Amino acid sequence: MATLFKDVFILDGERERAQRGHILVSKGRIQTLLEISETPPAADKVVEGGGHMAVLPGFVNAHTHAAMVLLRGLGEEAPLMEWLQKKIWPAEEKLTPEYIYWGTASAILEMLATGTTCFADMYFEMDGVAQVALKAGIRAALCRGITNGPPVDGVSKIHRSIEDNLGLFDRWHGREGLLTVQLGPHAPYTVPFGDMEKIVEIAKARGIGLHFHFLETEWELGYIRDELKMTPEAYLRNLRILEVPGVVLAHGVWMNPDWADSLDMSQATIVHNPDSNMKLGSGVMPLDTWLDKNVGLALGTDGASSNNRLDMWDAMRSAALLHKGVSRNPTSVPALDILRMATFEGARAFGFANKGLIREGWMADLILVDLDQPHYLGVNEENLTNYIVYAGSSSDISGTMVDGKWLYRNGVYATLDKNEILQKAREARKAITA
Ligand SMILES: [Zn+2]
Repeated sequence: MATLFKDVFILDGERERAQRGHILVSKGRIQTLLEISETPPAADKVVEGGGHMAVLPGFVNAHTHAAMVLLRGLGEEAPLMEWLQKKIWPAEEKLTPEYIYWGTASAILEMLATGTTCFADMYFEMDGVAQVALKAGIRAALCRGITNGPPVDGVSKIHRSIEDNLGLFDRWHGREGLLTVQLGPHAPYTVPFGDMEKIVEIAKARGIGLHFHFLETEWELGYIRDELKMTPEAYLRNLRILEVPGVVLAHGVWMNPDWADSLDMSQATIVHNPDSNMKLGSGVMPLDTWLDKNVGLALGTDGASSNNRLDMWDAMRSAALLHKGVSRNPTSVPALDILRMATFEGARAFGFANKGLIREGWMADLILVDLDQPHYLGVNEENLTNYIVYAGSSSDISGTMVDGKWLYRNGVYATLDKNEILQKAREARKAITA
């Protein structure tokens, strides 16, 4: 079935200006891009843009823990370690595979309604996450959060979770073109250095990407210095972790952009999570300086218990504003860079080719944005990027499409039963907070 977007503004993270034209989507792909002056072809379905709709690539939420929507609001305004130890970890102890399935389903409802077409998820009991992502038809990059802990039945927790993660890879990587799987060593302070070395070796030997938290808080600098007796830069060098093709470092708040001059970071992507970092008081990563370095940069929300939204539109606006304020420079971190981070860069980081830009032959992971609203007064081809990042919000989404199929359109979900999911997620929430 072919869908024609007729007379729309076409924008992505590499276009200096939007183009007014038509898009023909068929067989899951962007088949044809036409200028507004050209005659649009026939199609089964026509979206009449009438010059007041925009089509953008769907957002890629490059770091989250989707099922943590079940923990939203717990331990508000507490420091990271206290928040984890007193509130989050005890509630997580009560999570079952079924709860994680329904929590993730609820998160996907939020993500589709706010324009996200792909999310990178680190959690546990990830088979259910894979199942519900496929059911929804949304793209996802999955990893099992690997952490240290007391042995179970004589087997170390690290060993178990590595095996679990590798099983996840074998079962789901590449499924239906929607899923990729990475290894997910949680962080330097939850995975002993020797085990981290093993995980890096496995990743390289088997060609698996790697997604981990790195230097989210200042406290971790002291941990690496005092416990591991090395600098954070040496940590990365000694592990040779940056040699893993497709290595993703979540947060990197306390990383120093100068490291990119002595370390080869060209295969790595740092995921900026401005809202989570602000809310947890973790600090501000120097994004403006990183933009000049040879490293991938993507954007994420982090989990809903530290943000508390899974809304990439908020993440874009926060990132675009925050660094101008901190650097006292209104030219730092341009809106176009933010849009590219929120789309193409995230897809590339997690091994999704031909996604995240609007190009002929690329996959039709698209969002439809309604510009027929007061806050878009004055919008045109030249300024659309700025209107989207600074004036727009996720309430402007009128449709979210993956592989050319509408998953969400005018408030209605095509593949998910919203009422059932909310009911089940409420029951899960009640059970884990009882
Ligand atoms: Zn995280």
